[in-house]
Amino acid sequence: MIGGGGTGAATAWDLSRRGFRVTVLERGELTSGTTGRHHGQLHSGARYALADRTIARECMVETLILRRIAADCMEYNQGLFIALDEAEAALAAEFVDACRGAGIGAVEIPVRRALAMEGAVNPLVLKAVLVPDGTIDAYRLPMRFFASAAALGADIRTFTEVVGIDRSRGAVTTVRAVDHRSGKPVSVSADAVVNAAGPWADRVARLAGAEVALTAAAGTMVAVEGRMTDMVVSRLRRPGDGDILVPQRKLSIIGSTQRIVADRDGLAPTEGEIAFLRSAADNLVPGFSARPVRAAWTAARPLAGRSSDDGRSISRDFVLIDHGKKDGVRGLFTMLGGKATTLRAMAETASDAVDGYFGTGTRCGTATAELAPYADYWRQR
Ligand SMILES: Cc1cc2nc3c(=O)[nH]c(=O)nc-3n(C[C@H](O)[C@H](O)[C@H](O)COP(=O)(O)OP(=O)(O)OC[C@H]3O[C@@H](n4cnc5c(N)ncnc54)[C@H](O)[C@@H]3O)c2cc1C
Repeated sequence: MIGGGGTGAATAWDLSRRGFRVTVLERGELTSGTTGRHHGQLHSGARYALADRTIARECMVETLILRRIAADCMEYNQGLFIALDEAEAALAAEFVDACRGAGIGAVEIPVRRALAMEGAVNPLVLKAVLVPDGTIDAYRLPMRFFASAAALGADIRTFTEVVGIDRSRGAVTTVRAVDHRSGKPVSVSADAVVNAAGPWADRVARLAGAEVALTAAAGTMVAVEGRMTDMVVSRLRRPGDGDILVPQRKLSIIGSTQRIVADRDGLAPTEGEIAFLRSAADNLVPGFSARPVRAAWTAARPLAGRSSDDGRSISRDFVLIDHGKKDGVRGLFTMLGGKATTLRAMAETASDAVDGYFGTGTRCGTATAELAPYADYWRQR
């Protein structure tokens, strides 16, 4: 397994449960990639219901599963989509229909009720739709999967960067890495390799002579002091910039933006993005920009496919690439795209592919299996 984000965590757990011997190689600390920097929304899928129906449906299914298997890693406070102009108000019925078509229990509620539920929301709201959104702890959720995998014997190595993937007669045999703590080379024999390197997945695939079409779309978020709402508050429109406000502990976080980047390392917000986001947040909850800024940061979305626009035209759905079929590199699989919310489903798909490769006939049981507490990861070490 290459990559210690949410996808790598959930896949390490799934494969370990199926009886495979798993080694995870992560070049930094666990969750130091996109997983540790996302917005923290437990997506019901409502955001994608109008234009990206498959991922919308998957988000809803996975929200329900995560509420069962990792309830302590989330706040299930629901979400409000609010219409602030006539065009948004006119979209309400179509939006509710689209949500229901994706299995998401959205319901339009009277404005008075929405304001009673969330007093900080813009009082000029014209229409409001209640959806089953929530928030996730970006760190604890994947750490519960890592803790569970480690308890079954998975060997999880941080600060170990993969620099080569060797093959023999078209099949992967060995992963070569550098241990950044000791500076020494590391070599791991592997009958199969799952590339869960997020926005770096194309570079990792190239180490084995395989290709991955990926768009790295950077997004910025701004957190201010104070929890202005308990619910996730979104603009009732097609996904765009600065249209979601997420509460996290005692902070309120507005996001995000989107721009395609060639370099996925060392991403930083621009002054323009921060100013735009603070002003956009004021439309959702007036007074946001008057609060002290705690942090602003940027992360890259690993979108599956290539785009000539800002990446919005690419689906948020996830894709499993079998490089044996695509590039003649047998035993190499890339899992790409998706959301933090769908980590378990992505892992199931990747693990099914590995299982199919070996013909072992194992089955996924992660939708119901209890996960270890996240702190067990540290106790086991
Ligand atoms: C701005 C933004 C906001 C988002 N908000 C949300 C949200 O609110 N809710 C939601 O559900 N999703 C959200 N997402 C999506 C979500 O963050 C990602 O889908 C998810 O975190 C991807 O996880 P991953 O494990 O696939 O990738 P990553 O977390 O990036 O993990 C890949 C790992 O691979 C490692 N790696 C790379 N190269 C190597 C190498 N050569 N050797 C070893 N390790 C390597 C990296 O260090 C990294 O840790 C958001 C994304 C962005 C960008």
